[in-house]
Amino acid sequence: MDTGPEPSNTSTASPQSSRRGPLRAIILASTGEDIGRCTHCDLCEKYLQPGMDLTIGELMQSATRDEGRALSSRTLWLADDLLGRALRCQAGLDIASIVLVLQREAIERGYEPPPENGR
Ligand code: SF4
Repeated sequence: MDTGPEPSNTSTASPQSSRRGPLRAIILASTGEDIGRCTHCDLCEKYLQPGMDLTIGELMQSATRDEGRALSSRTLWLADDLLGRALRCQAGLDIASIVLVLQREAIERGYEPPPENGR
């Protein structure tokens, strides 16, 4: 999948990440969900929406690796359809709760939602 241009800092989620901690730990502390349980099964491809640059599974895997694209991807802001749903993937991950934490972290670290998803 074409993930578009990489942000300038792709090795870690942001310069502030070392102070805030890795995304996996933040998600675990906030939701009790361990995104390291993602099995890369890609069954969540069914939730792809037009304009998404990562699958939900790729978003989880990027966040597990603490990559900046987990916070800069368009997928993060185009997953609103999932947010109101009590949805657990085949690995038992609560996708909506994880997306909400990633959106909050993105804002905390200065990543702006795309203008069409402005909040
Ligand atoms: S369905 Fe769950 S386990 Fe499978 S790739 Fe998506 S997030 Fe990961």
